[in-house]
Amino acid sequence: MISADELLVGAHTSIEGGIHNALIEGKSIGATTIQLFTANQRQWKGKKLTEEAIVLFEETLEETGLQEIMSHAGYLINLGCPNQENLEKSRKAFREELERCIALKLTFLNFHPGAALDESREACLDRIIESLLLYEDFMDEDAPRLLLETTAGQGSVVGSAFEEIGYIIERVKDRLPIGVCMDTCHSFAAGYDIRTGGAWKKTLEQFDQAIGLEHLHAFHLNDSVKELGSHRDRHASLGEGEIGLECFRYLMTHPKTREIPKYLETPGGTPLWDKEIWMLREFARKKK
Ligand SMILES: [Zn+2]
Ligand SMILES: [Zn+2]
Repeated sequence: MISADELLVGAHTSIEGGIHNALIEGKSIGATTIQLFTANQRQWKGKKLTEEAIVLFEETLEETGLQEIMSHAGYLINLGCPNQENLEKSRKAFREELERCIALKLTFLNFHPGAALDESREACLDRIIESLLLYEDFMDEDAPRLLLETTAGQGSVVGSAFEEIGYIIERVKDRLPIGVCMDTCHSFAAGYDIRTGGAWKKTLEQFDQAIGLEHLHAFHLNDSVKELGSHRDRHASLGEGEIGLECFRYLMTHPKTREIPKYLETPGGTPLWDKEIWMLREFARKKK
């Protein structure tokens, strides 16, 4: 069994001053993995990484010993967009994101599945599948696993019901490395209760039926300001929201979830992440 200190737990750290800085910040808070943006997440155009930045990243990765680094794709990307112009922009931005992930040899590329806007959810899901399959020839051995992030289902955003994620995965899994990153805040807001061990058991069973647990590759760990089924995405620090600490204790101890990489996106930044990472490892250390 992997020791509590070696479990992959980290946070979404900052790339300010250079992409390698996200690794240094991660190391400083006791993280063994991190999530980062490879470019400005609120702009269409991402800067191409320089050879120098890539080398520095590789060296820092080696020095810090962090593993299974995850990129979070830009927020503007909607691979299921019904508007042709924005769909093209999204597909191009996603391809550029993929190129940056390949250059940095990242393990995961996490992205929001998409939003249906004025079209049906079914049409949106089919368009996401069509978009993903465009990258089939692009996925060499350095390519990251693409992770669909579970969503809160606000507005016309798809991916809140496990069945929607399962629908996409079923249709691309034989052609691309694909999987799921489950965001605890989002799935709770989408209506999946995860506040107790019993509730988790049921939610994981639903996940397994609709998607298959073998496709669960990562967690975003966030508590939720909003209540169960609110469909609102508002992150809280662990134990400070509607979900509560029992959820995270369960994830750190249950054999099916203990060793899955986990990334905090809680408010409060490094001082709080430091404490949260420490607490999560304590959960993993203690025998229930
Ligand atoms: Zn996200
Ligand atoms: Zn969120």
